[in-house]
This record gives sequence, structure tokens and C-alpha cells, in this order.
Amino acid sequence: MKNSKTWISQVIQMLGPHKTSTEIPDKIAYSRDMWPKALLWQRKGDYPFHPDLVVWPENEDEVCKILEFCHSHEIPIVPWGGGSGVCGGAIPVRGGLVMDLKRMNKILHIDRKSLLVRSQTGIMGEILERSLNQEGLTLGHFPSSIYCSTLGGWLATRAAGQLSSLYGKIEDMVSSLRIALPSGRILETPSGPKSSTGPDFNQLFLGTEGTLGIFTQAELKVHPLPEHRAFLSGTFSNLENGLEGIRLLMQNGLRPAALRLYDGLDTLLA
Ligand SMILES: Cc1cc2nc3c(=O)[nH]c(=O)nc-3n(C[C@H](O)[C@H](O)[C@H](O)COP(=O)(O)OP(=O)(O)OC[C@H]3O[C@@H](n4cnc5c(N)ncnc54)[C@H](O)[C@@H]3O)c2cc1C
Repeated sequence: MKNSKTWISQVIQMLGPHKTSTEIPDKIAYSRDMWPKALLWQRKGDYPFHPDLVVWPENEDEVCKILEFCHSHEIPIVPWGGGSGVCGGAIPVRGGLVMDLKRMNKILHIDRKSLLVRSQTGIMGEILERSLNQEGLTLGHFPSSIYCSTLGGWLATRAAGQLSSLYGKIEDMVSSLRIALPSGRILETPSGPKSSTGPDFNQLFLGTEGTLGIFTQAELKVHPLPEHRAFLSGTFSNLENGLEGIRLLMQNGLRPAALRLYDGLDTLLA
């Protein structure tokens, strides 16, 4: 990595001051995600890792330019969505640059006929879902962190939502991805219901936590909003019987959108 003062000022020049920060509060804000160990560091006032620079690109060209620059100067770069990850994947353990994608938050197209949505990946989960609801549609992806996580983060962590028994997990929802590679080039995977030839590049990139590239856009399958919802609860004499009951339900092909088993304490709290 070249002298940090030089590369930082070069990136600031490239993007402009309103899309970059070296301020200490920003460095602290981007020093940890929701990894429990990092939360303990924070409680003690420890910030062992922080970025040297935070950037907020507003379009794909800017993402590519920064990637190309960082790649050729060996500057570590960590993409950032909502920072709600629980495994420390967004922590800049080697310093360098954190790239927050949240300004790339536009829904680009909703195809009601083929039931597809194309969006930039910095969009917050709840905004994406609510926008689809206004069109009578749903993505069907409801992680508990929907209010504080982004589409890009979902893709990068292979997220699963509360209704995944019915709608599937994020990897089941992807039709096509646009990925900015470390070289700054764009890879777009083909959109279509199915391909019978070659490897599925979507599956290769999903869950890679930003190590193979940065998701800039995704095309996802959506569904009409359900017309009815039904709720049912039951009790079992103990947890083992409850588990067996759930197993039998699922193995017999009854797939409720959500199926939850609570023990005595959980039931009390719920
Ligand atoms: C209260 C709470 C509840 C949660 N509930 C669930 C749940 O129900 N289901 C579930 O699956 N998870 C859950 N999580 C974990 C977390 O919300 C998910 O992992 C989520 O997908 C992370 O999204 P994010 O936008 O916050 O990503 P971040 O935390 O910002 O990043 C996560 C990883 O993805 C990378 N990344 C981010 N954006 C991009 C991008 N555009 N391109 C490439 N890489 C990128 C980062 O570098 C990092 O490695 C929960 C977390 C909390 C705190």
C-alpha cells in the first residue's frame, strides 16, 4: 500500500469532499458491525480497527473507479450496507477504505408481467419491501433486521427471512446480479428463469461477503401480495414433541410461511 496520505487525497479528489470522510466520528461508526465481540469492544471504548477513509459512491462508475484504484495500489476495501452483519464481515481489519453503498438506493424497474424487480443494492430492505407492496407485490424476504440491512448485505451474506419456508432464502430469489469486480470491470449474470448449461455464477458470488466483488444491482423474483393470511397456534407437552410435530408437518408437504417453536420461557416472553 502506498503512503496513506497520498492515496487518501487521491480518492477524495476522485469523488469530491461530499462523498468521502476522514472524520473521527465516521471512522468510529464504520469500525464495527453487529458482531457480538465487536459490541463488547465498543462497550469498553476499544476501537481496534477502523478505516482510513469512508466513501459514499452514488453510481456504479464511481464504485468501479474506486475498486480499480484500490486494486492497483493494494489498498484494502470493505463494502458496507447497513452494518447489521453479526460475523464481523464489514469490520475493516486491515484499515484502508470502507465503501458505504447506501446512496445507491434506487429501484430501477418493476416488471409486473414477469414478476421481477431490479434495484440498486444500497436500498434498505424495508424500503424495497414497502415500495413493492405499493404495487401489490412482495419480495417475501423478511429478516429480523429488515429495518437496518440492505439488499447488498442480504446478497453478500446469503440472508434468510422469517417467511423463507414459503418464499425461499435470498439465494432462491435472485434472477440476475451486477457485480463490480476488484479490477473495476462489471460482470452481469444472465437474467432468465433457468439455464441448463455451465455453472451458476449467481451462486458463486452469493454469500462471499464482498471478497469477490461488490454487488451494484440485482434482479429479484417477486410475488403478488397474498390475499389472505391465516394464523394457528398449538401446544405440545414438551420441546421434543414440538420438534417432532414440526418435522412431521414439513415432511408431509405442509409448508406454512413461518413455523416457530417456543420453549416455556420464550412463550412467556412472547
Ligand atoms: C437484530 C438483528 C437481526 C438479524 N436478523 C437476521 C435474519 O433474520 N436473517 C439473516 O439472515 N440475518 C439476520 N441478521 C444479520 C444481518 O442483518 C444480515 O447478515 C444482513 O444480510 C446484513 O446486511 P447489511 O446490509 O447490514 O450488511 P453489512 O453488515 O453492512 O455487511 C455484511 C457483509 O456484506 C458485505 N457487503 C455489504 N454490502 C455489500 C455489497 N453491496 N456488495 C458486496 N458485499 C457487500 C460486507 O462487506 C460484509 O462482509 C440480523 C442482524 C441483527 C443485528
